[in-house]
Formats: sequence, C-alpha cells, structure tokens
Amino acid sequence: MRIRKTAAAGAMVLALAATATACGGESGTAGDKPAGGDVFSKDYKVAATPKIDSPVLKKAQAAKKLVIGVKADQPFLGFKDPGTDKYSGFDIEIAKMVAADLGFSTKQIQFKTIDSNVRETTISNGDVDYYVGTYTINDERKKQVGFAGPYYTAGADLLVRKDDKSITGPDALKGKKVCSITGSTPLQEIKKPKYGAKTTELGKYSDCVKVLLDGGVDAVTTDDAILKGYAAQRPEKLRVVGKPFTKEPYGIGMKKDDKALRDAITKALEDHIKNGDYKKAYEGTLGKSGSKYVAPETPLPRY
Ligand code: GLU
Repeated sequence: MRIRKTAAAGAMVLALAATATACGGESGTAGDKPAGGDVFSKDYKVAATPKIDSPVLKKAQAAKKLVIGVKADQPFLGFKDPGTDKYSGFDIEIAKMVAADLGFSTKQIQFKTIDSNVRETTISNGDVDYYVGTYTINDERKKQVGFAGPYYTAGADLLVRKDDKSITGPDALKGKKVCSITGSTPLQEIKKPKYGAKTTELGKYSDCVKVLLDGGVDAVTTDDAILKGYAAQRPEKLRVVGKPFTKEPYGIGMKKDDKALRDAITKALEDHIKNGDYKKAYEGTLGKSGSKYVAPETPLPRY
C-alpha cells in the first residue's frame, strides 16, 4: 500500500487519527506520559542590534520581528502545546539562542509550523527568516538553501509497537509496511529496494505514529531523536528499535545566497556551544527522551 495525497488517503488518515485519539489521546492524555511540551525553556541574553550585511536580517530588523520555521509535532524537539499554543523543545531553544545573538528577544519571534515537504520552497520564498526543525544538511538541499551547522547528528531508526518483536533492525523489513514523511531523507532511504519494505508516505510524523498505533503500518522510520520523543510519550505502546542506519546532521536552513546571515548564525551556534547554553538546553529537552549528549564539534564548517 502506498498512500499519497489522494482524497481516499486523506479520509483514511482522518479515520485512523480519530481512532488513535479516541484510544490514546492526541498528546499525552488518558494516562500517557508527558506530551513533550513540559521541558526546559529559557530566554537568552539579547545582543545589541548587530550590523550585518544580510538582506533577510535587515528586513527582520525593520519589522522588529523574526519569523522562524519549526516543527510542531515532534515532542522534545519542536512541539506546539495544543492547550497553550506555546512551542518548546531542543530545536526551539536553538532557534531562540540564535535569535538572541541576532538582536531578537523571544517575544519578537514568530514561530511558523513548516512540515518537511515544503521546507526548501518556504525558505527560498522568504516566508521564514530561518528554519530550525530536524533539518538534515545534504548536497541536494544545499543547491536550494544555505545551512549553518551541524549542531546535532541524528540517525534514521525504526519506531514499532512495543509487542512487535519481529522488527529487529533495518534488515528485518522485507514485506513490512513502513510509514515515513514526504520530503524527508529517511523516506528516500527506506524506499531503496534493498530493504524490501512497503512504504506509506504521509505529510506529518504524528500521522505516521497514529497509523502505527492503529495497526495500519508495522513501523515508522525517521531520525532516532524524533522517534524517541514519541516512544517517551507512550512507553507502554511504542519502542525504538535502536539500530540507526543513516547519519542525519542537523543544520539551520536559510536563503541560499545570504552568506552574511549564514556566518552570523554559525558564530551564534558556536558561541552558545562554548558558553554552556547548548548543553543545558539539550539536557533539558532531547536528553529527557533518552538521546545521549554528544558535544558538537567546533569550529563549525563555513562555506
Ligand atoms: N532529518 C530528516 C530530514 O531532514 C528527517 C526529519 C525531518 O523530516 O525533519 O529529512
């Protein structure tokens, strides 16, 4: 079965979503563990307005507002609390640290939820000033956008139902139904014939998780950091297999030709890694869902 943006597929997702909500709760109700919104969050020291020859930054400074693209359905990484509409998680902290060095307080940030399949177009169109959302740096994407980082390295893994012992790693996927996300690198990987998996392609990770809980697929694949967040939400129902099979270095995405912005963001990342903000934020967010802390290598690459 391969679902992709058809009316029938939409109806099916809605039906499955309704089932999952009824029996488990959208985000941590009915006895589930914390939704992922209850994590470390801080306001960082705001620098005096820097003079940087960046068209994107100049526009943001004139508007006194920075628009940052993020994820909303990744607990402990980029998560929007449905009750308060507040965003939280590791990527949100990274976004705020960098914003502070560019002269913007948390209050001046407008977070915009942007899913994986529209990241490059959203960035190139100028609909966001930069993007922080589990965004793997690779050469193909570098043709369209610029990257600062890597500020973290994840790896594609598998999320399965807790009682399913048949999936022991990527080699055990022959004939299995695996869900992943349009426009993501783990989807491209899992489509390779060597895995022999039947792929289901959806727009949001949370939709894949709902279909998994409902039995519509056997596994969800994406970065381990993301999957651990879902498993931490529902430890009675889900587990991460724990055999990563790709490398996913995370970068902050921005307009391709804005080198001044790229350099400023790279420097901001390095400074917050050095002054300890990065580690504190990591331990209070991603660290809570079981991803081990590894200090990122500095200096970060510049190009
Ligand atoms: N890091 C992978 C990617 O950038 C998967 C996670 C995501 O879709 O954001 O495609």
